[in-house]
Amino acid sequence: MIKIQKFDKIIAANWKMNGSIKFINNFIKKLTFENNNNNSSLCSIICPPFTYSNYLLNNLKNHYLGGQDCSLYEGGAYTGDISASMLRDIGCQFCIIGHSERRIYFKETNQEVSIKAINSLKNNIHPIICIGETLEQKKNNKTKEVLSKQIIESTPKNSTKNNTIIAYEPIWAIGTGLTPSLEEINDIHNFIKNKISNYENYKIIYGGSVKSAISKEILNLDYVDGLLVGGASLDVAEFNKILSS
Ligand code: PEP
Repeated sequence: MIKIQKFDKIIAANWKMNGSIKFINNFIKKLTFENNNNNSSLCSIICPPFTYSNYLLNNLKNHYLGGQDCSLYEGGAYTGDISASMLRDIGCQFCIIGHSERRIYFKETNQEVSIKAINSLKNNIHPIICIGETLEQKKNNKTKEVLSKQIIESTPKNSTKNNTIIAYEPIWAIGTGLTPSLEEINDIHNFIKNKISNYENYKIIYGGSVKSAISKEILNLDYVDGLLVGGASLDVAEFNKILSS
C-alpha cells in the first residue's frame, strides 16, 4: 500500500457520474500539476466513474486512481457490482466509501460502509471513509454525536492511520455552495483526531463545496490534511488552482 503518512496533503477529486472520453482528453491536456509540480508531499487522487478508470490511468501520470465505491461482496452473482479486487486489478489505490450520496440514495448503513472498507483493505486499497452531519443535526447541536457514531461504526477494526483516510463532509455543504466557517472545520477535524479515541494522527480531509477561492485557507488549517473535491474537480482550471494552493 502507499505510505499515506508521508504526504503533507491529500487532494481527492470525486467526479461522481460525470465525464466522457472527450472530457478526459481535455482534462488531461490542461492538467498542469503533472508538468509543473513535482511536489511529492502532495497526494493527488482522481476518482472517475468505473468505466473510465483504465483510460484515465493509462493517460495520467503523478496522480493516483480511486474508485467511488466498491461492492459489499467479494464476487459472484451481484449484477452491476464492482468488487474491491477488480478495482485493485486495474490499479486503484484508493476508494471512496460511504459517500453521503450513497448513504442517502442507496441507503448504505454504517455497517455496510465498514464491510466495504474491509473489502478495500483486504485488496490493499486505502478506503476514504466519508462521514458528515445533516443541516438539521447541525442546527440541533448534534454534529459531534452524529460524527462519533458514524466514524466508530463505519471504520473496521483493522483500520489504522496508515491504511485509512477519513473525509469529513457535512451533507449540507455538498454541492450547495455553502461551507462551514474555517473555525468550524478546524474544530471538527480536531474533535475527530483528538476527542474520539483511536483516530489520532489519521489523515482527515475536508469535503463540501471546496473551490479554489477557499482551498488554500482550508488546507492551511492545523487539523486539515487535505480535501475531497466534487464539482470543482470537473473544471480543470479550478482543479489546477486547488492542487497548487
Ligand atoms: C463530494 O461529492 O464529495 C463533494 C465534496 O462535492 P462538492 O465539492 O461538489 O460539494
